[in-house]
Amino acid sequence: MNELQEVICIICPKGCHIEVDRRQEPWEFSGNSCKRGPIYAQKELTAPSRMLTTTIAIKGAIVPRLPVVTSSDVPKERMMDVMKALAKTQVDAPIKVGDVIVSNILDLGVDILATRTLERISH
Ligand code: SF4
Repeated sequence: MNELQEVICIICPKGCHIEVDRRQEPWEFSGNSCKRGPIYAQKELTAPSRMLTTTIAIKGAIVPRLPVVTSSDVPKERMMDVMKALAKTQVDAPIKVGDVIVSNILDLGVDILATRTLERISH
């Protein structure tokens, strides 16, 4: 394990380069401009996770894809599993922004939320 590592904090646009010294416990952090940096860096090096934005199939709307986002972070190693589950998911219009499309996907404690309102169209 590399005992000195740099993590770029992505919590805010400042993007601090945080140096993490893992040669002792507790780890030492430097380069962060606020307290959120070390918390982020520790999580990134032990249990990295990200918000996921993608689209799913929708029927009966003006466009064929509905943009969605996770309600909170998904562990990085489960991202592909979530993408595969969403590839099989289809909803029917109308959908309102904020609607829960999938509740507690793959038992991760994370919901999939619509980020766009799409009305039903009649042919
Ligand atoms: S350490 Fe604080 S100031 Fe620096 S990028 Fe992270 S959140 Fe922003």
